[in-house]
Amino acid sequence: MTRKTHEADAIVVGGGPAGLLAALLLAQGGVATVLVAPPAPEDHRTTGLLAGSVAILERAGTWPDLLPVAAPMRAIRLIDDGGRRITGPEVVFRAAEIGRETFGHNIANRDLVAALAAAVAETPGLRRVTDTAAEIRIGVGGVTVRTGGGGTLRGRLVVGADGRNSAVRTAAGIGVRRWGYDQAALVTTLRHARGHDDISTEIHTAAGPFTLVPLGDRRSSLVWVTRPAEAQALAALDDDALARAIGRLAEPILGAVTLDGPRQIFPLSGLAARRLAMPRVALVGEAAHALPPIGAQGLNLGFRDAAAIAGVVAAAVRAGADPGAAAVTARYEAKRRGDVASRTAGVDLLNRSLLTDSAPALALRALALQAVKRVPPLRRLLMREGIAPGGI
Ligand SMILES: Cc1cc2nc3c(=O)[nH]c(=O)nc-3n(C[C@H](O)[C@H](O)[C@H](O)COP(=O)(O)OP(=O)(O)OC[C@H]3O[C@@H](n4cnc5c(N)ncnc54)[C@H](O)[C@@H]3O)c2cc1C
Repeated sequence: MTRKTHEADAIVVGGGPAGLLAALLLAQGGVATVLVAPPAPEDHRTTGLLAGSVAILERAGTWPDLLPVAAPMRAIRLIDDGGRRITGPEVVFRAAEIGRETFGHNIANRDLVAALAAAVAETPGLRRVTDTAAEIRIGVGGVTVRTGGGGTLRGRLVVGADGRNSAVRTAAGIGVRRWGYDQAALVTTLRHARGHDDISTEIHTAAGPFTLVPLGDRRSSLVWVTRPAEAQALAALDDDALARAIGRLAEPILGAVTLDGPRQIFPLSGLAARRLAMPRVALVGEAAHALPPIGAQGLNLGFRDAAAIAGVVAAAVRAGADPGAAAVTARYEAKRRGDVASRTAGVDLLNRSLLTDSAPALALRALALQAVKRVPPLRRLLMREGIAPGGI
């Protein structure tokens, strides 16, 4: 622990993937940056990084380290589980239809965080303080962060990348809208008898999406969103019984499955900060927005936040301006507000459309899936927008 005082243009709080990337991009843009980040907690999830995020990592120079451990996603298949009252058709989105080899790549969160942390450690102008932010003071002319170990950091901008219960957001007095879902995600890794053909499959059950994402040769990650009590009951099964339960949905696609990793449960909820920024403060990643894991949007949105804050702050520093000034943080808010709001609303709607039992809503959903299946321009638009707003 250090008791020294550090001065920086930007202080990034939080060393999850969004915070590591924000700190890296800020420093690469010539912004003197301090990252306050304890070691990342254990995380057995994987992230479907869409092509827009891969492009950001390519520009940051970290993609060559990640490519060997990343699994390509060349197609995305949506299947309505037969147990519903009204089911839609199976829809397959192929990246080739929009002239791309892949929609993106699936990668273990621990590999992603390790590669970003290694890049952070090697980047000039970027100092990591392996500690928590214990106290954050936001003043008119700057920000002071006191660390748990007693160090003091002073900067002109603080970037809150400290997750759902963001201390930066609280210190800034930024309100938050939270909402619950009667759902939890059971996460694990599978080995399977048949190949996945680089296809990510979302089976839409009446309790949530059951998603199988490629993760190397005959391996896939599973995100099984279901009712919280069922998720707990599943997690309590022994390996063989859990593999059998998973197999009921997965085996028609992947053949016999066995477990190939630990299990974790994530209760699902939504969160939207009332603002993404204010003078001296910007929020990125789950400090600003949290979505259910459907359509692989959450961290992809967080990576676009990181790229946006780094872009506007680096431009301000190059122009000799104050990086925490109201004009700079307002520019960040303006750049990100539409994307964050539309993805939050879209993912919420999609998730709720699975949970409804209302016949008109189910019929509308089935009709929408028919349209997506039969109208190629609509399908192509959805694919491009799914990867990144305005495509890439
Ligand atoms: C089951 C599941 C599957 C998902 N799959 C996908 C997917 O396929 N694609 C996708 O795009 N998204 C996905 N997501 C969403 C994605 O996981 C999140 O968006 C992402 O983890 C958020 O990253 P973050 O860096 O913003 O926050 P976090 O990972 O929560 O990181 C916050 C960090 O801040 C640190 N911190 C907290 N307080 C302090 C403090 N006071 N001082 C210093 N540090 C602090 C914490 O230790 C933590 O390391 C999924 C989510 C779930 C639940």
